[in-house]
This record gives sequence, C-alpha cells and structure tokens, in this order.
Amino acid sequence: MKKILCIVLCAVLLCPMLSAFSCAADKTEKCDCPNAPIIRVNGLGASIYDANGKRVQAADFETILTTIVKAIPLVPGLLTGRLTARETEKLVEIADGFFDELGLDENGDPIGGQAVHMVYPTEVDHENGQIICFDYDWRLDPFDSAEKLRDFVVYIEKLTGHDKVFLIGESMGTIIMDTYLSVYGFDDIAGVIWYNGGYKGILTCSDSFSNQNTISAETMGAYLKQVGATSGSTFLYDLMCALSDSGFLAEAMSGILKGAYSLNDEGYLQDFLVRNIGRFPGFWSFIEYEDFDAAIEYAFPTPELKATYAKLIARVTRYHTEVSANVDKLMKTAEKKTGKVGVVCGYGSLLPPVTHEEYLQSDSVIGTREESNGATCAHVGETLGAGYRQKVSDGHNHISPDNLIDASTCIFPDKTWFVKYHMHHFSNDGYSADIIRRIFLSKGTFTVFSDKDYPQYMILNKEKTELSPLTAATDEDRTPENGFGYQVFTIIFKVNAFFLQLFKHIAGSFRE
Ligand SMILES: [Zn+2]
Ligand SMILES: [Zn+2]
Repeated sequence: MKKILCIVLCAVLLCPMLSAFSCAADKTEKCDCPNAPIIRVNGLGASIYDANGKRVQAADFETILTTIVKAIPLVPGLLTGRLTARETEKLVEIADGFFDELGLDENGDPIGGQAVHMVYPTEVDHENGQIICFDYDWRLDPFDSAEKLRDFVVYIEKLTGHDKVFLIGESMGTIIMDTYLSVYGFDDIAGVIWYNGGYKGILTCSDSFSNQNTISAETMGAYLKQVGATSGSTFLYDLMCALSDSGFLAEAMSGILKGAYSLNDEGYLQDFLVRNIGRFPGFWSFIEYEDFDAAIEYAFPTPELKATYAKLIARVTRYHTEVSANVDKLMKTAEKKTGKVGVVCGYGSLLPPVTHEEYLQSDSVIGTREESNGATCAHVGETLGAGYRQKVSDGHNHISPDNLIDASTCIFPDKTWFVKYHMHHFSNDGYSADIIRRIFLSKGTFTVFSDKDYPQYMILNKEKTELSPLTAATDEDRTPENGFGYQVFTIIFKVNAFFLQLFKHIAGSFRE
C-alpha cells in the first residue's frame, strides 16, 4: 500500500514538472503583437572553430610575418616578372600556407569538426523590432547553411510565439536567404529585404573564377586613393596619392603583373584555385549566372579534375540552377506573397581593381547594378549625362539628384533605396536598423515615397552613423585635400622608382 501511495505521489509531483519542462522547450503561447520577429542573415565573416575550440583563420599575424620573411628571396623574380621554376614552386607553397587551416576537402566539406558556434538567444525583444542575427560557415554549401537557418527560424518562431518571421539578408546573407526561400518557400515569411546583397553575383570573385581579371596600375592607384580618402587619415591619403602619382606603383606593378599573367598561362593559378578557395561552395555562389560555365571550365579543365571534384561540381551546380537562375522569380514571389519587400544598396565607390569592369559603380565590394538588381548606373567619375532620360517611365522620377543612378530599371523601382558614399559596405551598421524597421514594421506597404526622411536616394554622414536624404545641400565632394606629406612622399617615391627601374634592369639581365 505504501508502495502504491509512493508511486501515485511521485506521479502527481512529476506531472506538473514534466508539463512545465515541455512548455519551456516548446512554447506554444501565441503572441498577438503585430510585429513578427526580424532575423538578419549576416554577411561573410563568422569565426570558425576547430573541434578543440581554437579559432581557425586564413592568416594570423605570425603567418603574415613568416610569409614576408619566406618571400624575401623571391623579390627580384617578382619585381622583374621572371620567376624560375623553383621560385614558382616556393611561391605556390607560401600561398597555400595561407589556407592551411581554412581549407576544405575535395567535396567542399570542413575537415576535423570545424564549425561556427551559433548562439541561440533565449530572449528577444521582437515587439520593439530587435534584430536577431544568424551566422553560418561562409565557406560551405548555401544549402547546408539554409538548413541551419531553417532550424533557427523554427526556434525563433517558438520562442516569440509567432508563425512568421521577417528575413533580411546582408551581403552574402542574401545568398543564404534566397537559398532558404527556394527550399522552404514563403509560408512563414512576413517580409524580405536584400541589403548590400551579393545575390546577383560579386564581380571580383566571379571574374577570378572565370579568368576575366584585369589589373592595371591606373585603377590600382585610384582604388588606393579611395582607401586613403575614407580612412580619415591625411598621412595615409598623402601616402596613397604619392604612391600612385609618382609612378612608383606603375613601376612596381609592371613586373608583378607580367609574372602573374605568366603564372596564369602556365596553369598555376588554376591549380591554386582548386586546392584552396575553389573548394568553397560558398564562394561559388558569388559567381554571376552568366560566368558559371566558364568558371567550371577554368577551375576543372580536364576530365580527371572533373571526376575528382564531381561531388563539389554537383553541389555548386545545384545552387546555380536552383537558386541563381531563379532569383528574379523568387523576389517577385516574395513581393506578391508578403507585400513587404525592400532592396537597399550602396554607391559612390570603386570596386577592388581586379575586375574587367574597373569603373563599375559600387559600394566598394559589390556592384550597385547587382545589389539593386537592375539599376542603370554611371561609371565612377562620370554621370549619366546632361540629356539623360529615365529609361522606364512609371509616373515617378527615379533618377538620383546627382545624376548617377536611374532606378527605373530595377526589379522594384519603388522599393529600392540607394545610400551614397565611400566604403558603404564596411560602414558601421547602426543606421541600417531604422530603414529595415520602417520597411518591415510600417502599416501597409513602405515605399521610397512613404516617408520624406527615407526617400530613394540617401547619403551616409561622415561619422557613418546616420542617413540623410540626398539633396544638393547634403551631397558633397568628399575628396580630401593633400597635406604637406604628399610632397615629401612624392620625392621619396620618385627616387625609389628610379632605383627600382635600375634594380629591375640589373636583376633582369642576370635572369636572361
Ligand atoms: Zn509578438
Ligand atoms: Zn516608380
């Protein structure tokens, strides 16, 4: 009898405990606030850890230092563009060293239990529009990351008591987000934003994979000046201007470029690609749709290579045919099903100078044409022209006040915002939450005409913290003045350019 009593007592005591436990794990109370939680799929850059919890990275300070030391004997060969076979092997070995830890296997999977440590929040203030971040291993197949995003979305829905979430993809995050939408559809999506997105391809990567890179001292100089101008340091700006204007950069680059092109012709760059970043399915998703076939042929030129990398090729081809090919359709479906979509992009900067379209308007990492999905853009340093007329007339003006952008050709002309100024891609992101919350949380559809403080064209202030409407008054030329250092550096570089020329002449004749 005592025993039975005990069991009954235990059961009575356990029941509420069990139900309380299951409640915590599976919160089913509905939240009736109007604000679905906002999930931001972050851009490339989450830290990756090995099985022992040690951070793995491309190059720490020690790696960079040893690389420089190891590369010193190669300087004459590099500067003259005439590396011997032995030196070339050495260079390849040094370059491989950078990817030792981050490298993936032949199928594009991580080695030895590497992973991103994703933190699941236990509390979120979604009612006030808190933005919840999702991170992923940016090297991997976007389909794998989309599966993890699915778990996260389901978790956040349970945590907040909502059956829908807002998704914003930032930079590479737009690729993971689009993959998610193509696999899991729109049933629990309340709205979508593509923010500084790489979803239509990233030219610098696309050109590298499809062998279309062109580099010149002229565009390299212009880009370095841009880096100096945005650094806020007169010293750095003067240094970059003098480096470029003195002719030293052109002198130094002529040999290096000659060497780089011959390394490419001899197949070293292709070989380096397939053993390193060419194994990152995540990077394959940066390739523009039109460049994909050329990239496959460049990276895997022989039947043997195609066989070795068959699984990797199948993976990256899946992204190409299922997501990349259908981005426009996905975006239109998002607009139709949720009513709340937006595209935010940057302009006013040069891309890193390694693409075949050197003066493409960009946010310094991704072309504005790609980020906006279709804007007509003037090249950096030019305008659309005095007599330019909007390409598509829809009853609104879609030309920017500075005559650089025509948004009428975008996929969503009335729901695309442009933010002007240098290095926008790398800017402090504090200001972006405002526009995101307006697009998602406003009653009804938010467009570029809904709020006079958030028109189609905006400008980032110098502190990179706030956006203002772009007008004749807020627009300004941000090219700094050169300081005294410019004259000094120019003399130094001119002298060095002379000695470099002499050195190359002597080193070159020894290498004949
Ligand atoms: Zn709620
Ligand atoms: Zn319009």
